[in-house]
Amino acid sequence: MKASDSLASVPKADLHVHQEATRYLDLILAEREGREPYDWAAWRRRLAAELPPGKERLQRIGSVQPVPLERGDDDELFVARFAALMRDHAAAGAWYVEIRCGGEVVTRDGFMSLFRQAEQQVRADYPRLRAEALAIVIHAGQDPDRVDAFADGCIRAAGEGLAGIDFLYAPYDTEADWTPMYRLAERFAEAGLGITAHAGEVSTANIAAAARMPGLTRIGHGIHAAADPALLHLLVDRGVTLECALTCNDYFGVLPDLEQHPLPRLVEAGVAVTLATDNPVQLSTTIEQEYAMAAGLGMSVEQLADFTRNAIRAAFTSDERKSAMLGELAGGGADCSSPVS
Ligand SMILES: [Zn+2]
Repeated sequence: MKASDSLASVPKADLHVHQEATRYLDLILAEREGREPYDWAAWRRRLAAELPPGKERLQRIGSVQPVPLERGDDDELFVARFAALMRDHAAAGAWYVEIRCGGEVVTRDGFMSLFRQAEQQVRADYPRLRAEALAIVIHAGQDPDRVDAFADGCIRAAGEGLAGIDFLYAPYDTEADWTPMYRLAERFAEAGLGITAHAGEVSTANIAAAARMPGLTRIGHGIHAAADPALLHLLVDRGVTLECALTCNDYFGVLPDLEQHPLPRLVEAGVAVTLATDNPVQLSTTIEQEYAMAAGLGMSVEQLADFTRNAIRAAFTSDERKSAMLGELAGGGADCSSPVS
């Protein structure tokens, strides 16, 4: 059987999706106000015409805010936008999604309780779906006092259920200074937070430093490791899971072309791979589309199912949820009557 024939039946997971706060708010408000949402297809066409593929184009992600973010201060809208993202994933066959958010979001009073409200709303229709939240630490070396205060907030939120941390930094395409990030990572790991970092999206830079970070078990992208056997060995040796976002790689042109995507080489080298949407509204993708693209690169149904198993194993969620999901995957997902945790 061809992968595409049974793609819909493969349970899916997405470990790397940004909250796209103002973009989801726009979708919700557009529907309520009876207007068209922001035209992301036109934005992508404009960007592709104005900027060459690669780093320059990539830097424009998140540059358009179709509605002011303050409109999302309202609790009901806050829950609604997280629920919309989760619902999009559930409708595309996801059983699990991790949503990464900026500092001002996760340190908001009662954040995890609002996040769980959104999850509960979606689970009323899609009982399989589970979701967790991650905080993004940006430029850990720039303003130590501010970063420490943010780290304190994340560690407090960990006590309420925040699942993990994602590191973003500059420079991204050449080696960054990881010293301040390692220091923070030690604190986060001690607080029980899962750790991932963006690296290896546009070059091989920062992959080795990320892989050696205290407590890190995953890397966002990391695809350029395929060009270097020593990096592949390092990832396998340390059991690092990669969060691969094919549409994102394709649109931003971080590779010569999609057909040459190193996904099959990473799998062949024994690297644990998962699939991700990254920025689904801006890039117009779904997790189902990402699985379909992987099938297009020659991945079999069994390999696609492995990507989901890899994701659950590497998930920043509780052991109870993890074993429940792995049990459901082993059962083929046929028994929807079993209690869900
Ligand atoms: Zn990302």
